[in-house]
Amino acid sequence: MLHGIPGTIGGAIRMNAGAYGKEMKEIVKEVTYLQEDGTIQTLPNEELNFSYRHSRFKDSEGIIIEAKLELEKANPEEIKEKMENYKKSRLEKQPVDMPSAGSTFKRGTNYISAQLIDEAGLKGYTIGGAQVSLKHAGFIVNTGNATAEDILNLIDYVIQVVYEKFGKILEMEVEVVGE
Ligand SMILES: Cc1cc2nc3c(=O)[nH]c(=O)nc-3n(C[C@H](O)[C@H](O)[C@H](O)COP(=O)(O)OP(=O)(O)OC[C@H]3O[C@@H](n4cnc5c(N)ncnc54)[C@H](O)[C@@H]3O)c2cc1C
Repeated sequence: MLHGIPGTIGGAIRMNAGAYGKEMKEIVKEVTYLQEDGTIQTLPNEELNFSYRHSRFKDSEGIIIEAKLELEKANPEEIKEKMENYKKSRLEKQPVDMPSAGSTFKRGTNYISAQLIDEAGLKGYTIGGAQVSLKHAGFIVNTGNATAEDILNLIDYVIQVVYEKFGKILEMEVEVVGE
């Protein structure tokens, strides 16, 4: 499930990262983290408030320093085959050959964000160096010289157009750091 998701265990837990119908919440047993007051706390899965791309670490400060994961035992050849299939699927469907922050918007409760962006005719729409990927409308890619401003302006534009056309407010999956 995690094959092809770039990042660290800490980031994946905070984001409850996932793909292909599975997410971190299914394999995290407990997490040890450093609290703001300098103390170290360990909490079990049930207290980590996991939901779609969310965990308790999004509601409060805390640096994850250790995690216990519970994995299923399986045949190494089958695991390898699954990983190869995930890789193949990503290469086919996602713009992994261009810089991006991954999927820009969260999946909606009753709609697929990328589909609405595509149907709004926004594939390939470009602001500066930021472009709605031609391969997968859910990704905003850097065509070479995108600034953070280009990307944020494009995100705002996509949200506005999709809202005007379909009345749905796209929610960002990526996190904006800084101003
Ligand atoms: C090409 C591509 C494909 C992607 N595909 C997927 C996908 O299929 N599914 C998916 O869920 N995501 C996907 N992502 C997004 C991203 O890879 C995941 O969210 C990943 O889990 C982020 O991990 P990171 O370590 O890079 O965290 P960062 O992006 O660096 O950080 C994410 C957040 O976690 C915090 N954080 C980082 N480390 C810690 C820590 N130790 N303790 C507490 N907080 C911490 C950061 O402050 C930040 O707020 C994709 C991204 C790219 C570029």
